[in-house]
Amino acid sequence: MTKQSPKIGVYGFTGCAGDQLMILNCEDQLVDIFGATEVRSFVMAKSDNHEGELDVAFVEGSISTDEQLRRVKEIRERSKVLIAIGTCACHGGPQAMKLGEGKFDEMYKKVYGNAKITLAKAFEAQPVDAFVKVDMYIPGCPIDKTEFLTAVAKLVAGRHPYLYKFPVCTECKWRENECILYNGKFCAGPLTKAGCGAICPSHNIPCVGCWGPTDDLNVSAEYDLLKEKGYKPEEIIQKIKKFGGAKVAQIVGELEKKKKEAKA
Ligand code: SF4
Ligand code: SF4
Repeated sequence: MTKQSPKIGVYGFTGCAGDQLMILNCEDQLVDIFGATEVRSFVMAKSDNHEGELDVAFVEGSISTDEQLRRVKEIRERSKVLIAIGTCACHGGPQAMKLGEGKFDEMYKKVYGNAKITLAKAFEAQPVDAFVKVDMYIPGCPIDKTEFLTAVAKLVAGRHPYLYKFPVCTECKWRENECILYNGKFCAGPLTKAGCGAICPSHNIPCVGCWGPTDDLNVSAEYDLLKEKGYKPEEIIQKIKKFGGAKVAQIVGELEKKKKEAKA
């Protein structure tokens, strides 16, 4: 009996489609991916797309309309494994940086004014796992080609992919970079999940956290350290919320609350 190829689907919601483009950019390996799997749906790559049961659904983008919510629930129901790809799907992305501030209506009006949009009802963008169970996260803005290909290869072989759980600082040390924080510049490396190879600090550019928060996140230590370096609390919060989205927004909110309680 021949082993059946896993059925996969690639879907995009609110984001820039950079992760889907990165998959297409796999060039040499794309033929292998299409050969080793049965790609049932990938609108950006092919025209004959089908619904139906999937072994793995790759979902890009945050969820920000009622129609997207209906669709992601439907994809979840017919997929054995759902993988969030890219920082928008994993953490909400920049569009979720104001999550929880209660400013959605105000921001929406600033952009759309009184225009009546009937196609779908928009709400504050949130990561995929705010609505459905996510089995695995491949973050990045966009995702890293090697991380994605390694994950696909392991899934095809029936193994669970391993992704880094430590921060960008570890990769930065592997490359023997001088720490940017020593020079007083803002670097989000200690808070950010590894996987990019510390590409920015390796070019003396501070990390802005585009891989999203790392697993063993210590916001409080980074916050205190940056304050010591002369950064204002508002500035720190603004920067670390940019890609951290919902999770970091919540932690920062708790930090601010504690700060106010200590002052009272
Ligand atoms: S430069 Fe940034 S990423 Fe590198 S060790 Fe320092 S804080 Fe971490
Ligand atoms: S160093 Fe930071 S900002 Fe640069 S690619 Fe990596 S996670 Fe993104």
